[in-house]
Amino acid sequence: MREAIILTGKLVTPHRILGKSYLRVKDGVIVEVSEGNPTGVPSSNVLNYGDLIVAPGFIDTHIHGYGGVDSNTGEAEHLLRMSKGLAKHGVTAFLPSTVTAPHEKLLSACRAVRDAVSGWEEGRARKEVPGARILGIHLEGPYVNPAKKGAQNPAYIREASTKEILDYLDAAGDLLKMVTLAPEVRGALEAISLLVSRGVVVSVGHTNATYEEALKAFAAGASRATHLFNAMRPIHHRDPGVVVAALESTDVFIELIVDFIHLHPATVRFAINHAGTWRTILISDAISAAGLPDGEYSLGGLKVIVRDGVARLESGALAGSTLTLDRAVRNVTSLGYTLPEVARMASLNPARNLRLVGLGDVRPGYRADLVMLDNDLRVVATIVDGEVVYER
Ligand SMILES: [Zn+2]
Repeated sequence: MREAIILTGKLVTPHRILGKSYLRVKDGVIVEVSEGNPTGVPSSNVLNYGDLIVAPGFIDTHIHGYGGVDSNTGEAEHLLRMSKGLAKHGVTAFLPSTVTAPHEKLLSACRAVRDAVSGWEEGRARKEVPGARILGIHLEGPYVNPAKKGAQNPAYIREASTKEILDYLDAAGDLLKMVTLAPEVRGALEAISLLVSRGVVVSVGHTNATYEEALKAFAAGASRATHLFNAMRPIHHRDPGVVVAALESTDVFIELIVDFIHLHPATVRFAINHAGTWRTILISDAISAAGLPDGEYSLGGLKVIVRDGVARLESGALAGSTLTLDRAVRNVTSLGYTLPEVARMASLNPARNLRLVGLGDVRPGYRADLVMLDNDLRVVATIVDGEVVYER
């Protein structure tokens, strides 16, 4: 049995803050969380982070790429490179997201995720955990509304197809974790029922849904809203739309891109103060340009220009982001939310929405997936399954 003791200066969980404390980890799983110092002489491996904040690792459940690679390519190797790169940002698990693309292309992205997950697990078996856990796949589109396409390639946007969805379920197996669709698109309600019956989270997004249409989607089982406000019918006092429907639906999670470009800080506060910190999920929506300098990149076959870290299509529309979750965490903290509240939004809530067992919290029975932060909330080290995968 492989044991480790992790010493922390301050322990942040989604529920509370502890002072000096320690975690006992066995075979990658937390078996004890206690305040103070461990008693006796630990025979096991001690990781001393006594002057740092230890928090649950961040879980990015909407991310298209990082460091020059992206999830649409259908290459398992690219997902493994994202896994390694994202660990630098305190991310311990991520859900690769595709953009609207032809059926064959999305099928090969589904297959690539299966290969990437087995590649990741083989690495772990050799005790060489490559980086952040690869959770499965999120298909963002293709069943979205062309009127709210954002950076989704309109050439491949289509009506919802049960036949295609069955193919994706076959190709990805239980790794198809989430689909973003617009509920007003033809066939969407049947698609929601099918996906939800197979355990897939449906998120409403790239949508022009009215308030009533959105409520129908939530009644059919959709449980999330994709980057609330962005690529969505805006709030109007006589036409509250999908945004108010999501904020009012107490069992629906909302995604927010907190780069202060996609949303004004006051809009972020407005959304969190309505939804509360138990159903808000921070996402990056990052593209391959994240972690790289300004320049020209591509997303789903469209040219993207990144200037001052802002990614746009030639039309000027925002095209994903270059955000990473560690920066989103610093941004949301700057708005006055407490560290446990931020841990909910960056770690626990994404795990709860996707029903990820044993992830997103620091407590006995949970995987030892942790991030070590300095007082400015900069990432010093990242641990996955009790193994250090990144150190500054
Ligand atoms: Zn996206």
